[in-house]
Amino acid sequence: MNSTALRMSTLFLRTLREDPADADVDSARLLQRAGYIRKAAPGIWTWLPLGLRVLNKIEAVVREEINGIGAQEVHFPALLPREPYEATHRWEEYGDNIFRLKDRHDADYLLAPTHEEMFTLLVKDMYSSYKDLPVTLYQIQTKYRDEFRPRAGLVRGREFIMKDAYSFTIDEEGLRKAYNDERGAYERIFQRLGVNYVIVSAMSGPMGGSQSEEFLAPLAIGEDTFALAPSGKAWNVEALTTPKLDELDYSQIPAAEKRATPNATTVNGMIALADERYPRPDGRTWAATDILKNVVIAVKHPDGGENDKPWREVVVVGIPGDRQIDMKRLEAQFAPAEIEEANEADLKAHPELVPGYIGPMALGQQAKAKAGIERPVRYLIDAHVAKGSVWFTGADENEVDYYDLVYGRDFEADGTVEAVEVRPGDLSPDGSGALSLERGVEIGQVFQLGLKYSNALGLKVLNQNGKAVPVWMGCYGIGVSRVLACVAEAHHDAKGLAWPANIAPAQVHVLATGKDQAAFEAAEKLVGELESRGIEVLYDDRLKVSPGVKFKDSELIGVPLVAVVGRDTVNNGTIEIRCRDGSDSVAVPAAGAANALVERIAALR
Ligand code: ATP
Ligand code: MG
Repeated sequence: MNSTALRMSTLFLRTLREDPADADVDSARLLQRAGYIRKAAPGIWTWLPLGLRVLNKIEAVVREEINGIGAQEVHFPALLPREPYEATHRWEEYGDNIFRLKDRHDADYLLAPTHEEMFTLLVKDMYSSYKDLPVTLYQIQTKYRDEFRPRAGLVRGREFIMKDAYSFTIDEEGLRKAYNDERGAYERIFQRLGVNYVIVSAMSGPMGGSQSEEFLAPLAIGEDTFALAPSGKAWNVEALTTPKLDELDYSQIPAAEKRATPNATTVNGMIALADERYPRPDGRTWAATDILKNVVIAVKHPDGGENDKPWREVVVVGIPGDRQIDMKRLEAQFAPAEIEEANEADLKAHPELVPGYIGPMALGQQAKAKAGIERPVRYLIDAHVAKGSVWFTGADENEVDYYDLVYGRDFEADGTVEAVEVRPGDLSPDGSGALSLERGVEIGQVFQLGLKYSNALGLKVLNQNGKAVPVWMGCYGIGVSRVLACVAEAHHDAKGLAWPANIAPAQVHVLATGKDQAAFEAAEKLVGELESRGIEVLYDDRLKVSPGVKFKDSELIGVPLVAVVGRDTVNNGTIEIRCRDGSDSVAVPAAGAANALVERIAALR
């Protein structure tokens, strides 16, 4: 018989009894122990037969859905020349994350972290008219990123597999359609793969462009934090906007007053001193929420300085005293500029910034009139500070603070920013109530790139009027190998993996147990029956392996249905069927076992 069953007597497999020393998450631990993958180097993995089967199945689901929206598969090299990445500035912008190398003639190459440039150039090479569009191309391919901290096995590799698709349309409306098609395909893909996901509005980061959403698998091992609203809508914290606050009534607030506050340069110091010397008239004690903290940061603009050169700007951000700056959220507001904490030289350049006593009156455009400062530091205020709110804050003199300083009455800001960390309980921008903060792993992302790459690389086509116009582009990635890890992360227990039926390496794991020749014959028969009905079988036909070891291995490997053919089969004519998820375990007559298994598989799918 021409059997295709995976026979464990010959399968290239060694399961491990012990956890690999450096496996930091369950999926990495179990995929190695069950013999799906093997570590080659940090963040670089070898695929073994079982792992490759699951990977191929995931890829097949991805292909089916992406082909289903009319995209066409191509395949680029992973080894690419420098020039196209130079043209889009990504040779530098990607920083240390790119693997760069030289050929023997000293020419620069890279191992592609993503392929926007190559797809853009390919379409430029071959297409020239609006009549050629729309077109969406994709590949499933190995990507390389020299991640600072490869971790969590396949979740953050340095070599990994990505599905990347790119849409090319004549106008923005076409882009929106392509984007929505792709987004719809993603939803079907993740549903079919049994991965939970949330769609999160995202900032598009170094990719550039406008609209972007991330698909996150809500998992505790994730490095991404997202904010979840009661409505089910979710945001990447960098993309979250604070709902606009109502203006407060300050008609009863007394005039602002300067008071001596020696040695009170921290929030706690200010509170302690104020409680002692200046008790509040309303009887409550002072709190961090009464204090306006003014934090000095440096903004590193990539251009726009003298001769359009990079320049450094000192900016002060006013935030409520009970909050902390979130540098990533704040930086997103200044993109493409980067930010860092201000240094001593930054402070020296602006003597009005009195350490420990920085206040809004000497800052921003208003400071020209109020403090006579000719070129004042830009002053931005956090979105949690309401107009009309009353503050205890610095007075720009050593050991002096202001009390009852009102935003909108006494001082103004040059703009509002999202500067502070998002907290559980903060209000959702969609008005549905309090946000919670969750952890997730990014499994996919869809971007409306717009014209960035077509402009940078000169991808133009003739429109209906014969005019050359740049092409609208979108790009769409799925981390195929990362998704595999996320499925394993979501589908396992203490004993091992427990794959969903449609991507498991096989649907049925037949175990022939004991030493009785008759049991092995019965098992062989069952395998044949299952195969003739199109079921994929993993068959444990090892002769000198104990039942205990076979059970342990089957729990580790995680095929959804296990059929035990052993002493009971020989003595009572029954085969035991176990569901790997623990939901069921029954003895069925050997003659009806194949049918019973087929029925159960149908129910699992
Ligand atoms: P991350 O923020 O996790 O580093 P990214 O936003 O940089 O990811 P993209 O450039 O959007 O990643 O790549 C598309 C997809 O490729 C991601 O959504 C993710 O699923 C996957 N991916 C990215 N980096 C890795 C990696 N180092 N290992 C495995 N998969 C990855
Ligand atoms: Mg991304």
